[in-house]
Amino acid sequence: MTERTLAIIKPDAVRKNVSGEIIAMITQAGFKILGFKMIRISEAQAGEFYAVHKERPFYGELVSFMSSGAIVPIALEKENAIADYRALIGATDPAEAAEGTIRKAFASSKGENAVHGSDSAENGRNEIAFFFSESELVANQA
Ligand code: ADP
Repeated sequence: MTERTLAIIKPDAVRKNVSGEIIAMITQAGFKILGFKMIRISEAQAGEFYAVHKERPFYGELVSFMSSGAIVPIALEKENAIADYRALIGATDPAEAAEGTIRKAFASSKGENAVHGSDSAENGRNEIAFFFSESELVANQA
């Protein structure tokens, strides 16, 4: 089934200047890019995006990190996009990420781990809508 997922290149990876390499890994894995932009979000916006983690001990750190610099949200589409993209990025902790994954290549720590990926098709749709209006996604849908 064709699914959509939201990738985000996180501030650590943007700062390291590896956004291009990450986008290349994503497109080489067969994902279609429906939209992308470089933006900086506020702590309030980061807090809203990660509201599901509000009770977790790392929430404050996560919100401050995600608003610490530019990020690149990318709306992606592919057959089986959720599972395939999570396989491409690797485990949350780079020490546990498999060889060849984005996090193995570029993540520094469990918190500063280079990229985000949606964990379900429903979250994929909702997370894309957090950053993109539908009219911003139509260009590459032909
Ligand atoms: P994933 O991004 O792999 O889906 P989670 O949904 O569990 O992982 O966590 C969301 C994000 O919160 C992670 O990508 C990471 O940036 C941060 N995070 C998760 N666990 C920790 C932790 N133990 N310490 C610091 N940050 C964490």
